Amino acid sequence: MQITFWGVRGSYPVPGPATVRYGGQTSCVEVRAASGECVIVDAGTGLRALGQKLARETAGRPGHHHVLLSHVHWDHIQGLPFFEPAYIPGTHIHVYALLTAADELQEVIGGITRHEFFPVPLEMVPAQFEFIEVEPKNTLRIGGFKVLPIALNHPFGSVGFRFDADATSWAYVADTAPFTDVLHKQHFLSGLEELSADDRTALGTMKADLVTALKGVDTCVYDTHYLPEEYARFPHYGHSTPEHALELCAAAKVRRLVLYHHAPTHQDEQMDAIAERYKERGAKAGIEVVTSWEGMVLDIGPGTSAPEGPPP
Ligand SMILES: [Zn+2]
Ligand SMILES: [Zn+2]
Repeated sequence: MQITFWGVRGSYPVPGPATVRYGGQTSCVEVRAASGECVIVDAGTGLRALGQKLARETAGRPGHHHVLLSHVHWDHIQGLPFFEPAYIPGTHIHVYALLTAADELQEVIGGITRHEFFPVPLEMVPAQFEFIEVEPKNTLRIGGFKVLPIALNHPFGSVGFRFDADATSWAYVADTAPFTDVLHKQHFLSGLEELSADDRTALGTMKADLVTALKGVDTCVYDTHYLPEEYARFPHYGHSTPEHALELCAAAKVRRLVLYHHAPTHQDEQMDAIAERYKERGAKAGIEVVTSWEGMVLDIGPGTSAPEGPPP
C-alpha cells in the first residue's frame, strides 16, 4: 500500500507563504493498493487537487470512487463539492460515514450544496452519490481493502479506520481527543464537565478498543493538532497531542507514527521544530515519528522508509 497526503491541516485551510512547505489544505489522504485500487479518506480541501488527478487518470471517463469520512466537520467535507469526478456523468461516488451522521449524511452533504451556498445542488450533480453507513467494529470490504472502523472521542463522534491490504496495514486516527479528561457526546460541551463513573468506563473501553484495533499496524496517522500547552487550554475541543499519540502507538506496538491534522496556526518554522522534537522523542520510545506534509507519499510495510521532510 501507498498513501499520499493531499491535505494535512485541521480546522480551516491556511495556504500562503508561511505554510508553503507543510501545506495549507485540510484533511485528505489517498490510499492505493499495489493493484492500483484507490480509497480516499476524508474530503477536506485537499480533495480538490486529488480529484483533478483522478479525472486526468480516467481521461474524463466515468469511474467508481470510494470516500470514507471520519466525521462531517467542515475540514473533512469541504472539498466534496469541488471533486472533479463528481461532474463526469456516469461516475459513482460511494461516501461512507459513521452511522449517527450517515442517517443525515445525504442531508448534510446536500446542505452544503444548497443554492444559497453553492451553484450546483447535489441532486443536479452528474455523478451518482451513494451514502453508506459505517459502524465501529463492522469491517467493510472495499475492493481488495479490508477496512475496520474504530470509534473515536470527538464532538458528535468520529471514526478512525484500519486498512489491511497487500499483506500490510496502516490506520487513520482523526479526529480524536485523548481518553482522559473529556468524554465527547452528541451535545455541545462549553467546557470541562465532571466525568461520571460511567464516563470513565466508556473512555477506558474506547481507548482499549483503539489499542486493540491498532495492534501491530505498520503505520498510524494520528490527530496531533495540539502541543501540550495548547491542549491544556482547549481540552474540550476534541484533539490530541503527539504525546497522546505516542502513548497509544507504544501500547499497540506500532512501528511508525505520522503526525497529522496540524493546527492552522503552526507555521513552517514551528512545524520544523515540532518534527525534530518528536522524531527524537519517538526514537527514544522505539517509534519512528514522521510529520506529514502536503504531497508526502508514504510506502506502507516493514522495511519501507519515509521521505525526508518537505522540500525546502
Ligand atoms: Zn478536523
Ligand atoms: Zn472534527
